[in-house]
Amino acid sequence: MSQYDVVIIGSGLGGLESAFILSKEGYKVLVLEKNRQLGGSLQIFVRDKAIFDTGIHYIGGLNEGQNLNQSFKYFGIMDKLHLHKMDMDGFDRITFDGDPTEYKHAQGYDNFVEQLSQQFPSERGALKNYVKQIQEVCDYFPLYQLKEDDAPILGTKYLDINTKDFIASITSDLKLQSVLAGSNPLYAGDGYKTPLYVHALVVNTYIESSYKCVDGGAQIERLLTKNIKAMGGEIRNYAEVTKIVEKDGVITHVELKDGEKIEGKHFISNIHPASTMNILDSDKIKKAFRNRVQSLVNSSSAFIVDIALKPNTFEYKNCNYYHYKRNDVWTGMYQTGPAWPDGYCVFVPKSSKSDAYADSMTILSYMQYDDVKQWENTFSTIPKHRDGRGQEYEDFKAAKAEQLIDEVQKKFPNIRACIKSYTSSSPLTYRDYIGARDGGLYGIAKDYRDPLKTFISPTTKIPNLFFTGQNLNMHGVLGVTVGAIRTCGVFVGQNYLIQKINKA
Ligand SMILES: Cc1cc2nc3c(=O)[nH]c(=O)nc-3n(C[C@H](O)[C@H](O)[C@H](O)COP(=O)(O)OP(=O)(O)OC[C@H]3O[C@@H](n4cnc5c(N)ncnc54)[C@H](O)[C@@H]3O)c2cc1C
Repeated sequence: MSQYDVVIIGSGLGGLESAFILSKEGYKVLVLEKNRQLGGSLQIFVRDKAIFDTGIHYIGGLNEGQNLNQSFKYFGIMDKLHLHKMDMDGFDRITFDGDPTEYKHAQGYDNFVEQLSQQFPSERGALKNYVKQIQEVCDYFPLYQLKEDDAPILGTKYLDINTKDFIASITSDLKLQSVLAGSNPLYAGDGYKTPLYVHALVVNTYIESSYKCVDGGAQIERLLTKNIKAMGGEIRNYAEVTKIVEKDGVITHVELKDGEKIEGKHFISNIHPASTMNILDSDKIKKAFRNRVQSLVNSSSAFIVDIALKPNTFEYKNCNYYHYKRNDVWTGMYQTGPAWPDGYCVFVPKSSKSDAYADSMTILSYMQYDDVKQWENTFSTIPKHRDGRGQEYEDFKAAKAEQLIDEVQKKFPNIRACIKSYTSSSPLTYRDYIGARDGGLYGIAKDYRDPLKTFISPTTKIPNLFFTGQNLNMHGVLGVTVGAIRTCGVFVGQNYLIQKINKA
């Protein structure tokens, strides 16, 4: 058995960033990934020559001087990324059935106020107040601005304010309320639950700046992997961890599916805390913690249609669309049965092949795990990527995909003529490919009514077992990066790490 300083379970963004940081600090690191492809939600796939992202459609905070730009400089990838800046005056467009206006979220706070004031002339004051308060909330989370932070996150103001209520306090214009909250699928926003800080941190990063990854987000994984290996770090695919073994109060090794044992001094889990508990062979973690983690509700899941387009038929869109059938943007995730879908998001990837035309389109709509629960004991047949879940499931998916395309056709009437082929994925796909609990898009759902319940610390009761990834702090490229800083900060000192990132 070889011994590593740090063994990381899962090669999602959080696992890879942690591997980079600790390799750079001289630790001997090994990353173990169950899939062939590394990167978790950074993975892409190709159909009919079109590239599809599984979990990165756009990234914020990448302008010079902004948080992710600086972090990516530290990771040695910023100057190598192939990025495309989105529409300055409307990177996100919020639309509604029966209303031809595309309501625009613009980049830059002044521009954000300006663009929406043109559409809501009497609301300029409310919009100014909105952006002021969003920035104020973000100031309470210094790590998100790569500022040194010794304050415990637990006492932070704004954890227990509801986003929907906050927006309603900003303006009584119901349409503007829906427009301000319209990109909430970015964080699986739930009107009954989502805390204001989640909304603020997510919209802030995209208002600062918004970029698409040209030819997909897997370039982030490829560049990180290369840099980790260059520093002596090791990464293994097809290496599913099935057991984390504790002896005398510390983790001694992990066991892989084929029985191989891998020893280490420290272990970081980049997978869902509940999944970690399932494979942790130890009574050192109290039952109360295990129960709490197992009972946490995960964010909503989704049904996704990935369309390969015929060449030179569908004009490239330098923005995303969030469309709603009703003027209620907060309850779509609960829609099931014949009234589904309540709305959808359209993402048009940027390909290097053409500036004028799109290669592909991704349509995403919420879907409850319960809608596919009857097939939960089936499994898709990787690597053929053909679902081995039976004809009934295939028929269900085909019907849902057609229903979704029908909805999108109302907005883009020529879309059917442009389709070369399409594939679809359900909550089960996310469960099986990424290991997402209940197929949840972004891991554990935050709840303003009990903010501490969903708080996961990077440390555990076992001194050499740690967490990282989207369940730690927040999801998304920025949330996961801040999470990796917190996890690795336990090893090398958080403020020391922040200083190094800021000097990169
Ligand atoms: C549909 C969708 C769209 C999104 N769009 C955006 C976006 O536009 N912008 C943005 O910033 N964010 C977006 N996100 C969120 C973002 O992709 C994620 O928050 C982030 O990538 C999660 O990183 P992670 O480190 O938590 O790891 P994950 O991506 O969850 O990866 C975990 C890894 O662990 C592996 N694993 C699981 N179990 C084991 C085991 N037992 N042994 C070994 N390996 C294991 C998995 O195979 C996986 O590779 C999106 C997410 C989804 C699902």
